[in-house]
Amino acid sequence: MESTVENSSEINLGKLLAGKRGVVFGVANDHSLAWSCSRLANLAGAELAFSYQAPTLERRVRPLAESINSKFIEQCDLSDDNQVDAFFTKLGKSWPSIDFIIHAVAFANKEDLEGRFVDTTRKGFSLALDVSAYTLTSVCKYALPYMKDNGGSIVTLSYYGAEKVIPNYNVMGVAKAALEASVRYLASDLGGHNIRVNAISAGPVRTLAAMGISGFRDMLKYVEQRTPLKRNVQADEVGKSALYFLSDLASGVTGEVLHVDCGYSIVGM
Ligand code: NAP
Repeated sequence: MESTVENSSEINLGKLLAGKRGVVFGVANDHSLAWSCSRLANLAGAELAFSYQAPTLERRVRPLAESINSKFIEQCDLSDDNQVDAFFTKLGKSWPSIDFIIHAVAFANKEDLEGRFVDTTRKGFSLALDVSAYTLTSVCKYALPYMKDNGGSIVTLSYYGAEKVIPNYNVMGVAKAALEASVRYLASDLGGHNIRVNAISAGPVRTLAAMGISGFRDMLKYVEQRTPLKRNVQADEVGKSALYFLSDLASGVTGEVLHVDCGYSIVGM
């Protein structure tokens, strides 16, 4: 049976995140992986706060956030530390503490997601690494005063292109490798504050960001034929794994990169 939000709720997510408050970065629309994570976290009892990157993007995020009764929906371009600082300062006035963060943000210029990696410009490289990797560190830094010693959890989203060469993924693969290394360093730094930091390495899912990768449709077909589960992963399956990391089920797990990819990454040939 296909796994959807509906039958996820049948598993009775009930009280898994009851009483917890979480912040979500990276909802663009209802296809976003961050949105699957958010809906399931809300079904599991969590209260959520959302950001949108620029004022013009508020109209995409606000209706979704309000559909799950979110009250805090604010602009935050994660590539600007001042905005990240201001976001958490403002949230700190409404919430006594933050229990978890979902970081599902990445960006690279379209021309850097096709052709040869060797042609990546210095500017394109910096942009991709800044938005897709450094923003996690920035979020951790500014969220820390509100999460300290709280038993918190931070989850980010990565992809197999961090480990192996995937055609056209190029600079984003390098950014995801930096992101996964950041997860380990941040897990080490924040562990003393009882905060866990983990990543989900998701298989390809049709989203706005993914459609910017040249040949993405072919990637979906290729993966479907070769995964042990003989299909592509669904956004809700990524969301369910996020719930594991966000909840006490993963209380002993930090610095980990979990593949949620229908098994694609275990296949050699
Ligand atoms: P998505 O719906 O397009 O989400 C990407 C999000 O990143 C958007 O909400 C975008 O905001 C946000 N973003 C980009 N630059 C930002 C900035 N400077 N500040 C704040 N937000 C910014 O695509 P998605 O596939 O769900 O991507 C979420 C994460 O999953 C990404 O890290 C992606 O690399 C990862 N991932 C995706 C797949 C896949 O196949 N879809 C597989 C593995 C990992 P705006 O749209 O408002 O600009």
